[in-house]
Amino acid sequence: MPKKTPTPDSKAKKAEKNKTEPRRPLRMCCICRKRREKSGLIRIVRMPDGNACADEKGSAPGRGLYVCRDAACIRLASKRKSIERQLGTENASGLYEKLEELIGTG
Ligand SMILES: [Zn+2]
Repeated sequence: MPKKTPTPDSKAKKAEKNKTEPRRPLRMCCICRKRREKSGLIRIVRMPDGNACADEKGSAPGRGLYVCRDAACIRLASKRKSIERQLGTENASGLYEKLEELIGTG
């Protein structure tokens, strides 16, 4: 007779209620074009001096775009220079490093 072993995982799974959440503004990642809540994205702004810069508070004035808090998106952006192109700047030195730092891959 095979022993019956209890599976602790089976009980831990609770059915999640499908609550309808209040509408939250969604922003689109400029790389993968997925829509996410602002908390899942990092805003990047073009500063008056033409530098692309991570906007950690998400409230800096100026032309901005969003990218996922996701290393894959950030690396792709870096490879394609997507952020520079979309912001119309060539000066994003240190930006990608900063982004990786913000999402905690470094
Ligand atoms: Zn993305």
